Amino acid sequence: MKFMDEYRDAALTRRLAETLARATTRPWTIMEVCGGQTHAIVKFGLDQLLPPGLELVHGPGCPVCVTPIELMDKALEIAARPEAIFCSFGDMLRVPGTEQDLLTVKARGGDVRIVYSPLDAVKLARENPMREVVFFAVGFETTAPANAMAVAQARTFGLKHFSLLVSHALVPPAMESILASPANRVQGFLAAGHVCTVMGFTEYEPLARRYRVPIVVTGFEPLDILQGVLLCVQQLEAGRAEVENPYARAVRREGNTPAQQLIREVFRVVPRKWRGVGEIPRSGLGLSETYAEFDAEQRFGVAGVRAEESSECISGLILQGIRKPHECPAFGTRCTPEHPLGATMVSSEGACAAYHRYRRAQATHP
Ligand code: SF4
Repeated sequence: MKFMDEYRDAALTRRLAETLARATTRPWTIMEVCGGQTHAIVKFGLDQLLPPGLELVHGPGCPVCVTPIELMDKALEIAARPEAIFCSFGDMLRVPGTEQDLLTVKARGGDVRIVYSPLDAVKLARENPMREVVFFAVGFETTAPANAMAVAQARTFGLKHFSLLVSHALVPPAMESILASPANRVQGFLAAGHVCTVMGFTEYEPLARRYRVPIVVTGFEPLDILQGVLLCVQQLEAGRAEVENPYARAVRREGNTPAQQLIREVFRVVPRKWRGVGEIPRSGLGLSETYAEFDAEQRFGVAGVRAEESSECISGLILQGIRKPHECPAFGTRCTPEHPLGATMVSSEGACAAYHRYRRAQATHP
C-alpha cells in the first residue's frame, strides 16, 4: 500500500476483523502503548470490531499525561518570572499543576509562548538576547533528537540565555514496570511505531523473553492497529512471545542510529517520576554533564520543588491498563476538557480526552 487512505479502507478493515475473530479462541488483554494509537482506536471504533473477550487497554504513551505534577509546578514557577520567555507545545498549557496551569500564568502576564519546534525556541533566544528563553522539553524517545539538536544548536550559537526544562521519558522501562506489577493484566503489547522509528526494537527483545509477552511494532492507521492486534493474538494463541515488526515501512530493527547518537551525546539516562504512576528507574532523560549548563531547573533554582498529586484523578491506573476513562467517577462531570483534573483529559494523546471527544455518551452511560 502506498497511500494513507489505503490504511483506512473499510472493506479491508472488516476482512481483517473477521480474520481476527477466527484467530481468537480465548480472552486476551492487549495494551496499545501509544496515546496516538488510543485516539485512533476510539475514533475509528476499532475496539468495537474485536471479538468478545479480546480487550484493548490503554498505555502510558502520552508524554503530556505522564509529565509529573512537580515538573508542571517547576514550569509554572519559571514561566511566572519576569525575565523568562517560557516556550511550550500547546498541549501543555491546560495541564494542571498543583494550583494553576500555564494558561493562567500567561493570563496573569507571564510570557508563555506556544512553539511548534524546539528550534523555534532557539530562534526566539537569538532574537531576544536580554531575556531567558526556556523550552519545556516534554516527550518520549521520538522528540528527544529534535530537543537534543536545539541544545547543540544553542551551544553553537553561544546562547547563554537558553535552557531546557527536561521532561523526557523512556518507553521500554515503563512497559517493564507494568509487566512487573502484581496488578498487571497485559498479555501482549502494540509497541509505539514512532518510538521504534528512532530507537529500533532491540530493546524490546529481552522484555518479550523475560515476561513471555508478544510485542508487535505498530503504526497508527486502523489497518496497522488491527494487524498489530492480529499478530499479537496469533502469538498468544500459539504460545509464542516474540517481537514482530509489521511496520517495516517506517521502522528498522536498529532504528535511526544518528538520532540515537545525538540523544546519547546531549542526554543521560536518569530515574523519572511518571504522573500517577510514581518513580521508575532508568526511565527518563536528563541533560548530560557536557550540556548541564542548559538545565533550566538548575538555572532557575527549582530543582527542589516537590508536589503531591490529586487523589481524585485515577489517570495513573488508566495509563497502566488497570482502569478505563469512563470508570473514573469524575469523568465528564467534575473533569472535562474545559476544567480538567488530570492531564489525560487535555492532552491530544490522552485516553480520557479520546473517550470524551469520540465516545462521551457511551462512556458516561455505559
Ligand atoms: S477523567 Fe479526569 S480525573 Fe478522571 S482519570 Fe481522566 S483526567 Fe483524571
